[in-house]
Amino acid sequence: MIKDIRKAAVIGSGVMGSAIAAHLANAGIECLLLDLVPARLTEEEAARGLGTDHPAFRNRLAVQAVERLKRTNPPPLYDEAFAARIRPGNLEDHLPQLAEADWIVEAVVENLEAKKALFARIEPFRKPDAVVSSNTSGISIDAMAADCGPEFRKHFLGTHFFNPPRYMKLLEIVPGADTDPDIVRSLKRFGENRLGKGVVLAKDTPNFIANRIGTYGLLVTLREMQEHGFTVEEVDAVTGPALGRPKSATFRTLDLVGLDTFAHVARNVYDRVTDEAEKAVFDVPELVRTMVERGWIGEKAGQGFYRKIKGATGSEIWSLDLASLEYRPQKKPASGALEAAKLAKGAREKTKALLGAGDRYSAFTWRLLKQVLVYSAEKLGEIADSIREIDDAMRWGFNWELGPFETWDAIGLVPSVQRMEAEGTAVPEWVKAWIAAGHTSFYRKRDGALFYASQGDYKRLEALPEAISLAALKEEGKTVRSNAGASLVDIGDGIACLEFHSPNNAIGADILTMIGQSLEEVRRNYDGLVIANQARNFCVGANLMILLMEAQDEEWDEIDGIIRLFQDTMYRLKRFEKPVVAAPHRMTLGGGVEACLPADRIVASAETYFGLVEVGVGLIPAGGGCKEMALRASKLADHPEADLLPYLAQAFETIGMAKVSSSAHDAFKLGLFRPGDRVVVNQDYLIHEAKKTALGLAQGGYEPVPEARIRVAGAEGKAALKLAAYGMKEGGHISDHDYLIAGKLAHVLSGGDVPAGSLVTERYLLDLEREAFLSLCGEPKTQARMQHMLAKGKALRN
Ligand code: NAD
Repeated sequence: MIKDIRKAAVIGSGVMGSAIAAHLANAGIECLLLDLVPARLTEEEAARGLGTDHPAFRNRLAVQAVERLKRTNPPPLYDEAFAARIRPGNLEDHLPQLAEADWIVEAVVENLEAKKALFARIEPFRKPDAVVSSNTSGISIDAMAADCGPEFRKHFLGTHFFNPPRYMKLLEIVPGADTDPDIVRSLKRFGENRLGKGVVLAKDTPNFIANRIGTYGLLVTLREMQEHGFTVEEVDAVTGPALGRPKSATFRTLDLVGLDTFAHVARNVYDRVTDEAEKAVFDVPELVRTMVERGWIGEKAGQGFYRKIKGATGSEIWSLDLASLEYRPQKKPASGALEAAKLAKGAREKTKALLGAGDRYSAFTWRLLKQVLVYSAEKLGEIADSIREIDDAMRWGFNWELGPFETWDAIGLVPSVQRMEAEGTAVPEWVKAWIAAGHTSFYRKRDGALFYASQGDYKRLEALPEAISLAALKEEGKTVRSNAGASLVDIGDGIACLEFHSPNNAIGADILTMIGQSLEEVRRNYDGLVIANQARNFCVGANLMILLMEAQDEEWDEIDGIIRLFQDTMYRLKRFEKPVVAAPHRMTLGGGVEACLPADRIVASAETYFGLVEVGVGLIPAGGGCKEMALRASKLADHPEADLLPYLAQAFETIGMAKVSSSAHDAFKLGLFRPGDRVVVNQDYLIHEAKKTALGLAQGGYEPVPEARIRVAGAEGKAALKLAAYGMKEGGHISDHDYLIAGKLAHVLSGGDVPAGSLVTERYLLDLEREAFLSLCGEPKTQARMQHMLAKGKALRN
């Protein structure tokens, strides 16, 4: 049993080792990072007069790896400062320090002998009870620890992180034959609770679960493509979002992973399986071999299945022509099946649409799915104990929206099996028996719970107690109120949750109305309110489309009305007599941020990208965002000698440059979160944690937030802020229009033309916000920015 993991050690500071160390640091764990002592001094080291006994030379690999973490994009660290939690060292001088580690993670080169040799060296230093795990992608856990003692083997297992470990949800835990089941259980909980991972238990078989099925799928796709004359871009059009899978589809994924790595991973299964048919699939196709020989291994080599071609007018991505092995401009595939999939909503409907159109793309999709579904069913029991594990692994490890068995249900289990059999495909016996017993799907819902096929019967899916599902609660009839844009859901223990569910969760009149109604409901019947949802993003802002239309029609009164409604609703939220907790996750922008700022507390997912980005569309925050930031600055400067201006300048910069946090931790640094706000690593637990916070506030004798008096920097402050913006404009860093916006922002944040140090009301600042916002709406360049954002999803710099 693991009591607690306070200190860890990671061995191997390459791509994975350094990023795993970073994620442990994210979780607040002190981490030793060890790598080899380099073979020789670099010229630079020699010129600096370093000897081979100098720590700068001996620790070089790990030291450089930690430095790299600070420059990597997307950032592996929640906060660059967390790099200080990683202590770099080397495998010759620092092995004794392993004795401090509660968990030692091995992430060295993928080679059995190298790993065995390493474990032999570690064994004498590990403290009793310390867990040791390997990040191997597919080497046998038992083989690696074969020469180690029983105590070591009892504490040894596989922990297979996916790249990049901070962002990929999947963690495969692979017990060996001798691993103590208590260790497996407690490490699983640790992975979920502290590292925020989705953990699946895999068996000690080649490439475990996700890479076994995933590699099989990729190989089958390659063969089908060649056999039936499809192009690279055609295959990607089918195997990406049209099937509920990532945009990188098949070949962008392969280029990213590297064809050499892919060949290596496939080879590992080829070498270790005995079934001839299976071996044949994992035998890497000639095409891939040739590409690896030529060094066309993908992104890291500058070319793979795609290549960036620089032309006179910019660069273009060309694709590999499989017949000539030359790159040529892409030909966008057009087909009824692809069109139907595009129009369909959700992965289930998309997959059905793709299959149902009856063209060659439909036939391709069918052949592909058929093989992957059957293979997944064949491997059940061998690679994992349940279909749930296989589905989870594919969703979390490959970012598929549906795992194989969920896909099978989506396309119709019974008819698809009939079709397979009619085509002579051997369907695994257990699937046939399942259907013969009268079942028509692998999953089913009953009384709000999800059940899945397990050993001939439906087994209830035991959700983690901390994982509140709004969808499940709504199915149980816990919706208290609802309109097109939002619902109020009873999440138990006297707390209600306001859920946005408009398109992209953009805030419009329906959401604002529902907030108002929710306050009435909570006032009467609940102890507190949580604002949270479980969509891809929390909220990408206010409904820009409506705003632009009103602005183009010069309906200023309408816009004034919308803004007033927004401001008033947020004001009521802030003054509400019961606690309000906002729980944002992922993209939370513009109006989404403004819906969080009035809450008593923010309880955010670690992966929250939080920012007042209105300037990007030529506006400033006017739903209370500027007022809240001015208030925060005034509170921070709330002691006699304090100077307000530096705090105000930070708010000015955060809003003026439309800064978005790279994590929840970063949002504290940007001044968007306050002390008392919290970060939750596992997003699945977010609503549970927000609810706990709301309950805590309610039980602690909650008192509503009184109307604040805000100290402002006035005309002087405004002049200083404008001067800074003027410097940016003269330096060519911002455009004339940016400068105009900055001037209005400076005006609002500093409280307009009042004397420095004046105390103003919240209402006063809201009026300034609204006036500035309205005047910007009339600017043609602002309207051009809004239009561009709506059309292209990107900010226009004009
Ligand atoms: P890498 O090549 O980036 O890093 C390997 C590190 O190991 C290097 O820093 C190297 O100096 C060190 N090393 C090499 N030989 C060693 C030895 N004999 N003893 C000690 N250290 C040695 O590799 P990586 O991509 O980080 O992979 C590390 C492990 O993680 C492998 O087992 C790999 O299969 C697995 N893995 C990789 C990925 C991925 O996407 N790269 C994903 C999951 C798992």
